[in-house]
Amino acid sequence: MNKNTNLGINTICTHVGELKDEQFKGAISPLYMSTSYQFDSVDVKRYPRYFNTPNQEALCKKIAALEKTDDALIFGSGMAAVSTSLLAFLKQGDHVVLQETLYGGTYNFVVEEFDKFGIEYSFTKSLAIKDFEREIKSNTRVIFIETPSNPLLKIVDMNEVSLLAKKHGIITMIDNTFASPVNQTPIDFGIDIMIHSATKYMGGHSDILAGAVAASEEHVKRIWNIAKNLGGSLSDFTVWMLERSLKTLNLRVKRQSKNALKMAKYLEKNKYIDTVYYPGLKSHENYKLAKAQMKYFGGMLSFELIKEIDTMKFQRNLQLIKPSMSLAGVESTVLSPAQTSHALLSKEERDSQGIKDGLIRFSVGIEETEDLIEDIEQALYNTIK
Ligand SMILES: *Cc1c(COP(=O)(O)O)cnc(C)c1O
Repeated sequence: MNKNTNLGINTICTHVGELKDEQFKGAISPLYMSTSYQFDSVDVKRYPRYFNTPNQEALCKKIAALEKTDDALIFGSGMAAVSTSLLAFLKQGDHVVLQETLYGGTYNFVVEEFDKFGIEYSFTKSLAIKDFEREIKSNTRVIFIETPSNPLLKIVDMNEVSLLAKKHGIITMIDNTFASPVNQTPIDFGIDIMIHSATKYMGGHSDILAGAVAASEEHVKRIWNIAKNLGGSLSDFTVWMLERSLKTLNLRVKRQSKNALKMAKYLEKNKYIDTVYYPGLKSHENYKLAKAQMKYFGGMLSFELIKEIDTMKFQRNLQLIKPSMSLAGVESTVLSPAQTSHALLSKEERDSQGIKDGLIRFSVGIEETEDLIEDIEQALYNTIK
């Protein structure tokens, strides 16, 4: 286990992995932009695509400490982390079980690319453990989960999934983007490989595209072996930016989670809103499970506007909260899945997934909740009037 896990999370965020500035004694890690390093010691052949520049190694130590794993790798995007990890453990003739609701990019990667590699896949019918078990075959090598899920914030039982996988000798992977290591460290529940779109909470300021994987040394080595061939590594400038961002990860995510809980409670009482989906609400179908495996409940929630309210008009009327594609920044944003991320599905498909036309996904930022509430109130008023 990582030797840094006895440190508190804010100390890990601030210090673990930092590089010393021997020359000037600066307070922060120096940025080494070199793509070429002289061979003094023959066994260290540093090159950015080998994931071993000084800044890459420094950042990996911090991410590994946050996820309580031995090792980590950082990538040029979340999808580079997802695709490289899956391909590291799946070959022709293998089978993977994936949960029913997944990030769209991951879903597309699987359904558009796996046939070419001769990799078989199944999606579960629901998030219940019996539906994972039902899909397991003799050639299943990987189970891939994502909890909380997008956009309805459903929770998968990590413990049950890892027990099931261990029984069959299967590797488990989780897309831990929505929770971030602040809200859950899946290794505590026996999950093998943690994957992040660091574009989201890890970056946190809507200005970085990056991905990360954290796992045991053995698993990271296996991912590294294919990663160096696929070439999805991250430039050192962005690595350095991400190290800076991670210093405030816990402060940001804790605040966003507390804000999200307050907003969820407010929205639940609002007469223009039908249902609120937030794992921290007692009304959420997975509240107990969320409480058992998450620290706070995260900064993401969804809500349904009553059908009398025009979803697009409501979003246009917001002043502070911006309608936009991405999520997890310090600024609050909203998105309507039926008109954006899930627009390519038919209305029947969306309905079957519980995604109604009036559904709004809300990424709660760090602003004062009083201001966010006032913004929603005025937007509702101006949409109805
Ligand atoms: C954004 C996102 C990804 C993909 O990450 P990119 O950095 O955009 O490549 C994967 N999983 C989840 C849950 C995401 O939100």
